[in-house]
Amino acid sequence: MHLLHLAGMRIEEDLKLDYSDVLLRPKRSTLTSRKEVQLERTFSFYHSPKKWTGIPIMTANMATCGTFEMAQTLAPHKMITTFHKYYDVEDFKKFFADFTNPDYVVYTLGTRAEDFEKLHAMIAADLMKHFSFICIDIPNGYLEVFLEKIRELRTLCPEHIIIAGNVVTNEITEEIILNGADIVKVGIGPGSACTTRRMTGVGYPQLSAVIECADAAHGIDNDQGYGLVIADGGQQFPSCVAKAFCAGADFNMFGSMFSGYDQSAGEIVEKNGKKYKEYFGSSSNKALETFYGKKEKHRASEGREVLMPYKGDIAHYLQDLFGSLRSTGTYIGARKLKEFSKRTTFVRVNKQLTTYLEQFDTGN
Ligand code: 5GP
Repeated sequence: MHLLHLAGMRIEEDLKLDYSDVLLRPKRSTLTSRKEVQLERTFSFYHSPKKWTGIPIMTANMATCGTFEMAQTLAPHKMITTFHKYYDVEDFKKFFADFTNPDYVVYTLGTRAEDFEKLHAMIAADLMKHFSFICIDIPNGYLEVFLEKIRELRTLCPEHIIIAGNVVTNEITEEIILNGADIVKVGIGPGSACTTRRMTGVGYPQLSAVIECADAAHGIDNDQGYGLVIADGGQQFPSCVAKAFCAGADFNMFGSMFSGYDQSAGEIVEKNGKKYKEYFGSSSNKALETFYGKKEKHRASEGREVLMPYKGDIAHYLQDLFGSLRSTGTYIGARKLKEFSKRTTFVRVNKQLTTYLEQFDTGN
């Protein structure tokens, strides 16, 4: 890390990049068709004794996309739905009466006492057997209490694959894994419905965060497995999902690209003859008022509400997403998702050019 000292002020000089700052350099490839590119991966874990196989893409644990309907659609594709925190024990009882696919659903909790009370109730009702994954999630994963809560969760659920976040730097990634998590969720501020950077000035360009945290996590290993990371938020196009895998992300998580579909929560609203569905940040005024009844006085909203064009069934979009990822594989000569990062050379680009090109994007 190069630190510049300017009048006693510490300024990190190393270049940090976002998805839109790079493209992928094409490479010689022996592939004859994009069909040959395999998107499934199998993982073992640093703590959990489980093994997992699937397409390592997951919904955000947001009210708009972490829904039961999404899980019913994504699980047959071996993709993961991270449920939002607002389903209660009775909701889960009803849902799991006819859904058994633990590898493709994640239970989410926060660090508050009531989050752990609900987890105890889920365990008592024998519902946690329906989940391979648990995600413990707070906006600021640097709080010391977070590590304590990860340890508590690991003791309560020794076999589950534990996801913990969010952070963006290497030392804390290592600490989170050593304190009991299998997977670290990376991203502060890149989310499309997130206003943290605007409101607080805190953040880290997401491509660099993924590269640095993946490198730190992958370096922690034992006989069973090694630390893994999820690139969470900021993917605006399928190309960003590909770039995150190329940067070393083991999983991709996003919300906006899972919103606006039949399987996303919310009513369809019509405006100027066009149909939309609402997408809102978990810390937006809308979320705080809907799920907690009020915004606490000391707290400012760090999320916003957006109208997403209504796009019908998500099945069509999944074909586009898989097709784009397979196409990236053929351009860089990677037969498997696992090989993406090994085959990657990023090319830095003039941001003005990508912004110019993206204005012609039609959402595909
Ligand atoms: P997106 O796919 O919209 O770019 O990003 C989704 C991610 O944004 C989520 O997984 C979560 O990490 C983050 N996020 C969701 N809601 C909020 C919010 O209200 N505030 C902040 N700071 N981040 C949010």
